[in-house]
Amino acid sequence: MRVSDIGEFALIDRLAKIVSSEHPSVLVGIGDDTAVLEGGGEMLLLATVDAQVETVHFLREAITPQQLGRRALAVNLSDIAAMGGRGSVALVSLVLPRETEVAWLEHLYQGLREEAERWGVVVVGGNMARAPEHAVIDVCVLGWISRDELLLRAGARPGDLVLVTGTLGEAAAGLRLLQRADQAPASTVLLARLLTPTPRLPEAAVIAKSKRATAMIDLSDGLSSDLLHICQESRVGVRLWAERLPVTAAVQEVAHQCGETALDLALGGGEDFELCFTAPADTAETLARTVYDETGTPVTIIGEVLPQAAGHTLVLPGGEETVLKAKGWEHFKRNL
Ligand SMILES: [Mg+2]
Repeated sequence: MRVSDIGEFALIDRLAKIVSSEHPSVLVGIGDDTAVLEGGGEMLLLATVDAQVETVHFLREAITPQQLGRRALAVNLSDIAAMGGRGSVALVSLVLPRETEVAWLEHLYQGLREEAERWGVVVVGGNMARAPEHAVIDVCVLGWISRDELLLRAGARPGDLVLVTGTLGEAAAGLRLLQRADQAPASTVLLARLLTPTPRLPEAAVIAKSKRATAMIDLSDGLSSDLLHICQESRVGVRLWAERLPVTAAVQEVAHQCGETALDLALGGGEDFELCFTAPADTAETLARTVYDETGTPVTIIGEVLPQAAGHTLVLPGGEETVLKAKGWEHFKRNL
């Protein structure tokens, strides 16, 4: 049996059984966006790691080293944001072919520093090893969250509403443009969403401090896959309203040009790094408005949490209900 036979999530299950993360200091082990550890006091320690692999996550001709440095840190900070936390320090493991240009790496580190300074994170160490062919930039981030503000994938309850920050499908639209080498000026925003994503840390802080949200995840794989993780961990069902999904005209245009729909890109595109969270129906609108007032980022109510037996449904624009399927990114199944 090979990893491609079982896929990323079955593989995680198998490996997690071998290294049981049960320990008094581990509040959340393998299976959420970030591990949550006792920090000795009111604050809990957050730990996450995420690699950027050449030819899988990035192509050298499509991203500048500065952008790659920013991205490598930002995707980790998004996982910290998913818990409501803030980043503190980063460790960087570089696995490099011998031919790698020093200047390329220095530019990568300038990008890393830019993103780190933006969020008050310090790069405190790392590791280097030789790669046979392609570069890997693996970043580990540690962060903190107050014990009473921690948000997990588990916690959503029937009757809650589902909310999402920002807009969906822009990174996927950016990827389509990149694949077509489209240099239209309108593509700038979409490409930026793909190449230099913004972790929703301020939004996460407002959501966590409100203590109104019940579960949260960041959208790295795609809304459908990531929302189903909340459903799985919270043991609930969901009804998602396709018409409510926040997609821009630019995403609709790219989808149209590519023979896809904006709904496809919003549900399955991935890498938007928005936050998807749940909150009781009577507080969801106030929470959405608070996030917007304090950060300028719009928040949209896109669905409702149902009992687990109700399953996972998607209400199409015409009113027809279909099964909501995980269409997001999964490693070992497909690549760029
Ligand atoms: Mg995540």
